[in-house]
Amino acid sequence: MQKRQLIDDVSLLHSNSHIIQLFKGGNNRWEWRFIHTELAILLIEEGFCKIVPYYPNIIINVFSQNYKTFRKQILRRDKHTCQYCGKPGHTIDHIHPASQGGFTSPRNCVTACLSCNVSKADTTLDLFLVNEQMEEDGVQEWNMEQLSFSRLRY
Ligand SMILES: [Zn+2]
Repeated sequence: MQKRQLIDDVSLLHSNSHIIQLFKGGNNRWEWRFIHTELAILLIEEGFCKIVPYYPNIIINVFSQNYKTFRKQILRRDKHTCQYCGKPGHTIDHIHPASQGGFTSPRNCVTACLSCNVSKADTTLDLFLVNEQMEEDGVQEWNMEQLSFSRLRY
């Protein structure tokens, strides 16, 4: 059978019916449950789930919601490379800090080396990049053009 791409466009979700979520449960076996449309949309937008082709009311987990497995999947996705400096990374960093409401999700989490993770701490991503830039330049002033988003490799 021909393989079809999973869909991540939430507008294609069949929001008038019950949404079925397929996920790997205990013993690595596929299980399912009914969930609210709002939760389904959040799970898709945060990168946990995608819509099954031809079944617009069924979503499937492409990332685990079990933290231990999730962590391994993020490290693998980012090839164990710090997304801020490019050195080997083994920790998970929240782009939008968890303390400020950022989700522990594929969309909001990246691999970071310990040094970037510690220096970033609870600052937001924008602030983090600004601080780094100031440190490198040894100046206390900066403008928007100095921000280098190219350092983020997704
Ligand atoms: Zn780093």
